[in-house]
Amino acid sequence: MAVIIDGKAIAAKIRENIKAEVERLKNKHNLIPGLTVILVGEDPASQVYVRNKERACIEAGMNSTVIRMSADTTEQELLDTIARLNLDDTVHGILVQLPLPGHINEDKIINAINPEKDVDGFHPINCGMLMTGQAELEPCTPKGIIRLIEETGQSISGKNAVVIGRSNIVGKPVAIMLLQRHATVTIAHSRTQNLAEIAKNADILVVAIGKPHFIGSEYVKEGAIVIDVGTTRVGGKLCGDVKYDEVFEKAGYITPVPGGVGPMTITMLLDNTLKAAKRCL
Ligand code: NAP
Repeated sequence: MAVIIDGKAIAAKIRENIKAEVERLKNKHNLIPGLTVILVGEDPASQVYVRNKERACIEAGMNSTVIRMSADTTEQELLDTIARLNLDDTVHGILVQLPLPGHINEDKIINAINPEKDVDGFHPINCGMLMTGQAELEPCTPKGIIRLIEETGQSISGKNAVVIGRSNIVGKPVAIMLLQRHATVTIAHSRTQNLAEIAKNADILVVAIGKPHFIGSEYVKEGAIVIDVGTTRVGGKLCGDVKYDEVFEKAGYITPVPGGVGPMTITMLLDNTLKAAKRCL
């Protein structure tokens, strides 16, 4: 039976520390970290994510601004808004909620954000810094995943890690971060042959596919650390990529969904905003 990695509790503990640090910055330096989120269009899931980010910022004592733009906003209008925020000294973090409407080029928008304010860590400069071990602002979900693995107290160095999924926001960066911590890393994806055989070698298995209940115990090594990143809404319920009940019996540690990786993602966004603000000291 696995030990449950309680992302909610770990995130709460980290947020308390962030809140205390924000308070200290206010009192000592008159500096209030500020995050501005830009939401284009009315995608219901994005609206929920943005509301959660706004609430978390306010709870941490940070300034939070949400700029809501209509779905027919032009690419140039969005670029102009970002250019204005890049120059605003009270804005330490800029986040453009993805996905954007189809007529807007996401890469062009991400590339327009000042890398020092790119609290999502998606700008190519920040991706390059991550790749070369010089990261300042790391992407939030991978950063949260590493924190969860570290919380188990098990060392990453020398372990076999398998990451299933190769997206720019989860799979690739988390693989790099595990490699930097001296794991032997395999990245698997939809064209990988013999996935179960490969996954079964993993001391650390990170699953970021987006297919509910895809990974059963036949993919898992006895005693492995299993991090389930997947979040798919099925019949109003949030489902992970892992068959929790059966993998729980075999793994050494496991993250639940919800209450695992999810709460850590927003927490790392707060952490990045705080970090970006402290650069102004
Ligand atoms: P994505 O961009 O759709 O990438 C999914 C990856 O899974 C791709 O690399 C794909 O391979 C791979 N894949 C798909 N089917 C597979 C299969 N049958 N076997 C092996 N690999 C397969 O998704 P993402 O943005 O990385 O997100 C993944 C999941 O994490 C989603 O459920 C998302 O909602 C969730 N997520 C959660 C958080 C959080 O904070 N909790 C944050 C981000 C994402 P190919 O590259 O070959 O297509």
